[in-house]
Amino acid sequence: MEDVRQMATEQIGVINPWAVAQQQFDLAAEKLNLDPGLRRVLREPRRELTVHFPVKMDDGTVRVFTGYRVQHNLSRGPAKGGIRYHQDVTLDEVKALAMWMTWKCAVVGIPYGGGKGGVVVDPKKLSRREVEGLTRRFATEISIIIGPERDIPAPDVNTNAQTMAWIMDTYSMHVGYTVPAVVTGKPISLGGSEGRNEATARGAVYCVAEAAKHLALDLHGAKVVVQGFGNAGSIAAQLMAQEGSTVIAVSDSQGGIHNARGLDIDRVIAWKQEHGTVVGFPGAEAVSNQAILEIPCDVLIPAALENQITARNADRIQAKIVAEAANGPTTPEADATLFERGIFLIPDILCNAGGVTVSYFEWVQDLNRDHWSEAMVNAKLKEIMTKAFGETLALSQRHEVNMRTGAYLLAVDRVAQATALRGLYP
Ligand code: GLU
Repeated sequence: MEDVRQMATEQIGVINPWAVAQQQFDLAAEKLNLDPGLRRVLREPRRELTVHFPVKMDDGTVRVFTGYRVQHNLSRGPAKGGIRYHQDVTLDEVKALAMWMTWKCAVVGIPYGGGKGGVVVDPKKLSRREVEGLTRRFATEISIIIGPERDIPAPDVNTNAQTMAWIMDTYSMHVGYTVPAVVTGKPISLGGSEGRNEATARGAVYCVAEAAKHLALDLHGAKVVVQGFGNAGSIAAQLMAQEGSTVIAVSDSQGGIHNARGLDIDRVIAWKQEHGTVVGFPGAEAVSNQAILEIPCDVLIPAALENQITARNADRIQAKIVAEAANGPTTPEADATLFERGIFLIPDILCNAGGVTVSYFEWVQDLNRDHWSEAMVNAKLKEIMTKAFGETLALSQRHEVNMRTGAYLLAVDRVAQATALRGLYP
């Protein structure tokens, strides 16, 4: 049964993230010898909302967009997770991302369940006014299930602090008073947290530092490759450069650039700001988004989308550490290959948990009408990430499994305990 499902996941060309997420869960449930009833509960999302909603475009026409908000598990607290805008969003993808959020919040021990949202749209093809209209109407459609005590969205692929400001405003207009805690990742002037914008990347870099310590690898002069140059990828590249590492290749949705002697990341960021892409950066060779993954390096940071490291290329990855700043970049088959090949992978639900951790700090600050310093945020983030990394590593060593399964053992056990303790209603 297990093997059939595993093959099915990768043979059908397009890999379904929901099949991957369930397969990862099954592996941990098996190792934990989880009660069959609990297993059935945790294998499915609690709620899935699909909405089709109209938006008036700049030329006066009306378009109808499709969006989703999924809440996977609410045992440990309100649902938490981002909203992504992407032309390839599907309900199955959002379900997978919601389930991953449940485990992610449990790995770092913050009191949330998992949720996720998405709209099928390429926002780069819309005007700013159209994106605002789409955001406000989508926020209205999902307002029947979100709220500061119920489900708290945040930025994800192609959404940002401005998107969160519009959602916060829309929700607040409906209830008649300002509710900062309904979303996180807001601009600092609207109750956003210091350090939230950098948090996903910073958390990932804390994990890389711990992994390097474990492997006795010197990060000074280490070669780093980053796939994806959005919020997580561009800031991770910057922070790795600050650690003294040499970032030799980066990419975005349009393609990548490579220079074996190293890229000046601040200049690449300025180039992208001006040209909308890293492509064409002077003094670097072009490299595709697939080829970039196979460049020999010490640290490979996938920071884009799902299913990048698969059965097709896992035997050609030439990194010592793979740090998953993206959600779901590696398939279960590829996981097995990387583990056999001795490549140390820091799984998404641990590696990119810095984002939601500082989201939690933001929510706590909003509920308390408080504002913490950036130094305090970063110190607390470091403490949480380092602890989660240590607990994951210890479990993976004790059970002789890879770090992903180690993180799942930690997370699924915490969620299963909470779910079992609450019991079955009615
Ligand atoms: N979208 C981010 C993630 O995938 C952040 C979620 C949050 O802060 O709620 O973890």
